[in-house]
Amino acid sequence: MIITEQKAFAELLSLLERHQSVFVVGCGVCATTWRTGGEPEVKALLSELSAAGKQSTGWTITAEACCDARLTRRILKQSSTALKITDAIVVMACGAGTQTVASLVELPVYPGLNTIGLSQIQSLSLALERCRLCGDCMLAETAGICPVARCPKGLMNGPCGGYQDGKCEVDRTQDCAWVLIYERLQTLGQEARLAIISEPKDWSRMRSPRVADKKAAQLAAKE
Ligand code: SF4
Ligand code: SF4
Repeated sequence: MIITEQKAFAELLSLLERHQSVFVVGCGVCATTWRTGGEPEVKALLSELSAAGKQSTGWTITAEACCDARLTRRILKQSSTALKITDAIVVMACGAGTQTVASLVELPVYPGLNTIGLSQIQSLSLALERCRLCGDCMLAETAGICPVARCPKGLMNGPCGGYQDGKCEVDRTQDCAWVLIYERLQTLGQEARLAIISEPKDWSRMRSPRVADKKAAQLAAKE
């Protein structure tokens, strides 16, 4: 899940300084589940904005993910009357959702949330980053534990010399990712994998902007 956190209200208010009427868009998937951009949070933000002297022209929550341009276009169309009298839109979704809304309207669009990471949900108040979207997944070699996301140095071979009692030298409250990898490989009877030195990662796969074009990929595979 994409994890987001609310922007400080004072920061948001300063972004909206030059605007009087505001419309708020929430996301029906990640931000709803993580409770940063679902209906209760959208309504709470509207109350705060109203108390700060802003006028609300309305709100909506995308039925699906806000980053799905096809569906968000339809949802925004349903609010077209309200948007005609709107000065600015605040989006309570991840950065991709916010940019999707911005690409569909001729209005200033502001992020109501900060995007934190792609994470595993432990509880509704604890999410742990698990993937940095490297584009070349190596979980098969690391017993399903990602060193890109879980080792602060992103080491492809480890552990480094700094680990102590299984903890990471960068943050002693965190487990060393490579100790976890070793222990899990051992449990799986695959510790021999550690003798294989991983080559440096091809970071060019992370070069932005990345485009996922399934049709082009299928055509290329046929050639
Ligand atoms: S190796 Fe790359 S794709 Fe796989 S989980 Fe880690 S960051 Fe994500
Ligand atoms: S102690 Fe472990 S997790 Fe921390 S930087 Fe070194 S190898 Fe990475």
